[in-house]
Amino acid sequence: GAVDCDRADVEREVYGTDIQMRFGPYRDGAFDVSGDAFLGALRGADAVAIYRAQITQEVVDLLKPGCRVVARQGVGTDNLNAGLLERHGILGFHVPDYCVDEVSSHTVAMLLALERKLIAQDGLVKEGRWSIHAGGVPRRTGDLSVGIVGFGRIGRATSRKLQPLYRRVLAYDPYVHDDLMRGYGVQGRPSLAELFFDADAVVLHAPLDDSTRHMINDMSLRPLRRGALLVNTARGGLVQPEAVLERLRDGRLGGYGSDVFTPENPCDHPVNKEILTSPHTVVTAHRAFLSDASERSQRLRVAEEIRRVLLT
Ligand code: NAD
Repeated sequence: GAVDCDRADVEREVYGTDIQMRFGPYRDGAFDVSGDAFLGALRGADAVAIYRAQITQEVVDLLKPGCRVVARQGVGTDNLNAGLLERHGILGFHVPDYCVDEVSSHTVAMLLALERKLIAQDGLVKEGRWSIHAGGVPRRTGDLSVGIVGFGRIGRATSRKLQPLYRRVLAYDPYVHDDLMRGYGVQGRPSLAELFFDADAVVLHAPLDDSTRHMINDMSLRPLRRGALLVNTARGGLVQPEAVLERLRDGRLGGYGSDVFTPENPCDHPVNKEILTSPHTVVTAHRAFLSDASERSQRLRVAEEIRRVLLT
């Protein structure tokens, strides 16, 4: 049998009837993946599917010796702990491409909302201030350069969508050759500092790992152009929130769009909570991946892989 740790019983249909499936712990509309109920749910499983749950040594110790696979229902692998699983002979996998279209569009939507100062205007107009200049004057994006940090699947899709909007699209990715970027019509930059130096807006599409944690910090933001915009639809851990708040306050950052925070809910962290109160921010609740098609395709892919591993 398999256990799906972060999904409700409604997922049963995607697993079919040939796998004995358990779900939970799902309580009061929220996934409880930290307590004893979560750890208890893992006992005896041959396969485990996770979403936001964190794979730790404690979790792996609880898995029975025959457990063969742990699947991450999503793109990011920061909570999968692939190295630990490998050391225990457990196959770990994720679903890398089910929401490339959604996340790249979400990034562009956040960026344009900031460029056009939609959030500030919307709030003021709805309060009765019918004024052309209320909320600030937007920039002409066709004169500007936008930089992409992380030129992987989502970064490349975002570059295609940004090209008709901005004068230049730049990218920084230490693992992708400049020639490949040129093939996308994108100019490579050899360092984060040089990207920041040349860009009027920056979007983040790098994974969270030890090398990228807090890559956006007080030091790295220094070369940023005054009034530059930053959008993060990758992971909250890429960004040091204190540095973002400080730069929003002094105007170095003209706006911040974020779908992701650490901890997950920004209201649980005083600095992130403060970021929400700025008229120059736009935020969503970690749902850049979401569309009517993406969730189902992600779950089907996980169920198919689990079935393949367990039944073949
Ligand atoms: P990907 O693996 O295809 O691409 C990531 C790219 O980042 C790679 O090209 C890699 O070389 C590059 N990279 C690695 N370290 C870097 C560094 N230090 N500096 C700059 N670039 C670096 O992944 P993807 O599918 O494009 O997804 C990117 C991230 O987006 C995921 O890791 C995930 O965390 C996040 N994501 C978020 C959502 C959401 O709903 N908000 C949904 C899907 C993915």
